Amino acid sequence: MSLVSYRKKRKFKLSKEPIDRKKNKAKKQPIFVLQKHNATHLHYDFRIEIKGVLKSWAIPKNIPKTTKVKRLAMLTEDHPMEYAKFEGIIPKGNYGAGSVKIVDKGTYENIKKDKNGKIIPMSKCFKSGQIEFFLKGKKLNGPYALINFKDKKSWLIIKMKKR
Ligand code: MN
Repeated sequence: MSLVSYRKKRKFKLSKEPIDRKKNKAKKQPIFVLQKHNATHLHYDFRIEIKGVLKSWAIPKNIPKTTKVKRLAMLTEDHPMEYAKFEGIIPKGNYGAGSVKIVDKGTYENIKKDKNGKIIPMSKCFKSGQIEFFLKGKKLNGPYALINFKDKKSWLIIKMKKR
């Protein structure tokens, strides 16, 4: 809104005055984080940014390191984006009491394609229970899939073969 009148008054093809190029900037890549959560039961919280929130799964046995295993991932509540930076102690008596440590974080790329080879938006993938993404972290680097089964909360995380 703030730059609407500025843009209206100028002919950028004829004048070299600056255009605000925000729109042309490369889109910021969505993020992921893996947090080791030493609570009542040790587990790993895997979170990926979808539409401005961190969709979150608790993975009891951690993310698979090979393509041969499937690991259970239980969908938990959405977390705010800021949670990706959180490390520390959740005090006794609070929800999730225990320590939280970041194992890895980085960005990811949506790699789930439709029949025509077009990328399916992440929010749509989430709803259909079939997510495929390429993690770009320090430790986690490669393609993974999250697949919903049985009920809304039960998912499997697998490491995919590199194509
Ligand atoms: Mn947790």
